[in-house]
Amino acid sequence: MSYLVTARKWRPSRFSEVVGQEHVTATLLNSLRLGRVAHAYIFAGPRGVGKTTVARILAKAINCLNPQNYEPCNECEMCVEISNGRSIDVLEIDGASNRGIDEVRDLRESVRYTPTKAKYKVYIIDEVHMLTKEAFNALLKTLEEPPPHILFIFATTEPHRVPSTILSRCQRFDFRRIEIQKIIERLKLIAQQDKIQIDDDSLFTIAKKANGSLRDAMSIFDQIVSFCGEKIKFDDVIKALNIIDQEIFFRVTDVVKEKNIKAGLEIVDEIVKLGYDFQDFLSGLSEHLRNLLVAITTKSAELIEATEYYKTRYINEAKNFNESDIIRMLKIVNDAEISIKWAPQPRLKLEMVITQLASLDSTIKIQELLSKLEKIEKSLNSSGGVDTENFNHPPKGGNETENSTIITEKSTKPKPSSKSEVSSLQHDDIEKINALFKDPLAKYEIKPHQDSEQKIDNPEKILNLVRERWDEIVNKAQNYNLNLSTALRLSYPLEIKENKLNIGTANDLHLDWIKKNRPFLKAKLKEICNIDIEIDTSICDVEKLKEEIFQYSPDLKLKKLINESPFVKALIENLGARPID
Ligand SMILES: [Zn+2]
Repeated sequence: MSYLVTARKWRPSRFSEVVGQEHVTATLLNSLRLGRVAHAYIFAGPRGVGKTTVARILAKAINCLNPQNYEPCNECEMCVEISNGRSIDVLEIDGASNRGIDEVRDLRESVRYTPTKAKYKVYIIDEVHMLTKEAFNALLKTLEEPPPHILFIFATTEPHRVPSTILSRCQRFDFRRIEIQKIIERLKLIAQQDKIQIDDDSLFTIAKKANGSLRDAMSIFDQIVSFCGEKIKFDDVIKALNIIDQEIFFRVTDVVKEKNIKAGLEIVDEIVKLGYDFQDFLSGLSEHLRNLLVAITTKSAELIEATEYYKTRYINEAKNFNESDIIRMLKIVNDAEISIKWAPQPRLKLEMVITQLASLDSTIKIQELLSKLEKIEKSLNSSGGVDTENFNHPPKGGNETENSTIITEKSTKPKPSSKSEVSSLQHDDIEKINALFKDPLAKYEIKPHQDSEQKIDNPEKILNLVRERWDEIVNKAQNYNLNLSTALRLSYPLEIKENKLNIGTANDLHLDWIKKNRPFLKAKLKEICNIDIEIDTSICDVEKLKEEIFQYSPDLKLKKLINESPFVKALIENLGARPID
């Protein structure tokens, strides 16, 4: 059995059969009912979620000779021709291989003629973002004055690469990743029909591996069937897909609990012997820790994607850890996920990670430390005369050897205590506490400049500050002017030269937009960064620039991480986690 068999056999032929995209199919059916079908649609969304399938159903529905409740009948001449890809009026074009202006010119030529047989000529252009700029321009002319008998359906996995001039002339639908539960239901149905025995754990594993794509799920399902035959067992699924067994991650957290480094090194040995990819292992471990964190903070397994059996395991395991511990572990694992790529000896790196995890001190010790701080602060305040502000922001060069990297504020509430214990606070402890309180932004305190003509002192600091808050500036621009915000998003502060902030942009168009809006930008720089500075622009390789900057600046890298990962963002904003050198 080949993968095409299941995917083709189960390809929906009516709107009502499409899985997980009800928000799209219901709206389309409604437009058909009201006779308000648009001239151009754009279907955006990840691969394998039904974009071209829905496009074909729509092509059939508007051309069907005998529609049933606005669904295609799938039996009339038109429906059959379209289903078999034989209709000369319904054309499917692959944007990736027909991306040039010549192809689009041909298309514009053919658009002029009325359909031969069907009511509508339908052009389905897949991966439309692959078209060249010239091809888009040619297409735009047709979209500006569409002939009445034409329907364009564009499908794309990357809508942000489609010019806004095209987007604004299309009705847009965003297709979603399909929920695991819906994929499982569909696979169950297929298994029943094909008389294949499969257990829930296997179904779950396949659905999860498919990552929201029903097409991928079916293809994996076919792969498993050809590997296992008609009786599918969970162990075989794990083997066939080379998936790392969840158990191994629970064993890692056992190692941490028991501080058993030897057992940890044995796990690494096992991973090597089983031929698992180290990075897969680390990202699996990351997800495992994330699940634990969810179980600890929400006290439920509702937000955990796992089988019932493992959901219960997470709830039980959560009792052994507190959230600060998990966040510190996550930090270690996430760092390793990045650095193991370039590690000359990846195995050694992995062993170090496991050893580090197994020798983590519990957060409780830091809590003790903080309660000591509370005591000393109280006693000093009552004796009249300590500057807590300076205490919280020590001069640079303090002891920065603190082991933990991220800590949550929630769990570190100082506890009240008696005065007699104050003397037990050692100098070393104070240094550690100072490191805990260190505000990463404190080093960028900048006073406003009175005169913009004045020489900018410490340009490096200012440049860093602007880079750090660049996203905020971009977001402000979004409400002001969409073109400007797009230009800014694809640009980045390059340098401070001759007392001007030089913004690196990717092309002339962006450069123009930024130049035109210099007063706005100046105002925002003043508002957000509290600096007065003139603005200059130049063209450069922005992506490369960013890459180089992030490599050398941990603070900016963290900002980038926060922007890119909702999870890191939640850790920092909701749980109060913060980096400490
Ligand atoms: Zn029909």
